[in-house]
Amino acid sequence: MDLIIIAIFFLSVGSFCSSIIFRLAPNSPLSLYKIRSSCPSCSKKINIINLIPLVGFLIQKGKCKFCGSNISKFYLFTEIFFLLIGILLVYNYGISLSTIIYTIIIFCFYILFVLDYKYLYLPLYINLLIVLIGVTFNAKFQLFLDETFLILGITPISFTLYGFFFGYSSLWFINFIYKFIKKKDGIGGGDFILFGGIGSIHGPIALPLILLIGSFLGCLYFIFSKKSSNSMLPFGSFLILSSFIYFVSNLMNFSFVN
Ligand SMILES: [Zn+2]
Repeated sequence: MDLIIIAIFFLSVGSFCSSIIFRLAPNSPLSLYKIRSSCPSCSKKINIINLIPLVGFLIQKGKCKFCGSNISKFYLFTEIFFLLIGILLVYNYGISLSTIIYTIIIFCFYILFVLDYKYLYLPLYINLLIVLIGVTFNAKFQLFLDETFLILGITPISFTLYGFFFGYSSLWFINFIYKFIKKKDGIGGGDFILFGGIGSIHGPIALPLILLIGSFLGCLYFIFSKKSSNSMLPFGSFLILSSFIYFVSNLMNFSFVN
């Protein structure tokens, strides 16, 4: 019974997440404040039963029942993604404050990941929300403090603030040098705040590794997608992916040790 409730909860989180992404996307026909969802093709309101995560998609067989246009598989993917995240978190932390906070953080990162990947767009308030969450929960609950924190011998609040400072300023500095040579910006301003936010969560020592993995993934993407050398890369998405890999590998380590 508990398992079913947990599954429904995380499927709903995924459903909510994709509806927010749809509404935040540039040129979206729906605003964030309009309550009811509607079909992107025919604008007919979606009825309650079809809004149920997973079930709605299956009942409608992946098509809008009014106009027959395909419902993007992205909705289904997002719901299943959050279901798996939920299983991973509840397995490791049970139903606890940690699980809730990690869910909120992954929720925000997922929105930024998709918006940056599709539109090269990192909404400022979600970026700032991540910084706020990182600073608050590390300072108050020491959520992400690990053995690297002990090496530094600093207070939790310094850990998170140094993380933000080094994250923001390192990308700012790289861009400064790039701009000096090329006379144009190489990294978007949203990426500075995003990397600052990642720093406020994982602390300063994790940053070089996250930056390295993120850049490596970005290079792989660049090579395999055969982009022209002038095209823009969703660097923020790769930083998020990299910090997610870092987070999950930490989680695995902890659960194997304990
Ligand atoms: Zn429709």
